[in-house]
Amino acid sequence: MTLDRYTCLETVRRLDDYLDRELSAAETIEVERHLQTCEGCLGRFKFEGAVLDELRMKLRRVPIPETLVARLRERLSSRA
Ligand SMILES: [Zn+2]
Repeated sequence: MTLDRYTCLETVRRLDDYLDRELSAAETIEVERHLQTCEGCLGRFKFEGAVLDELRMKLRRVPIPETLVARLRERLSSRA
């Protein structure tokens, strides 16, 4: 484990996993620490989180098809 903070690139790369709660505890802490200090990544995080939340709400208990999630992520990352 390094004490260096994540760069924006490192944070963005982990955002999806962070939103899916698939990161390790240490990675989660680093992502959160970066989000607290970086408006750019925070904005991106809020945007992605809102989109995913909305999608989950619409689909309620129905699992989101992987293809739909992949397509959504593709669209999100092409905006960057
Ligand atoms: Zn950043």
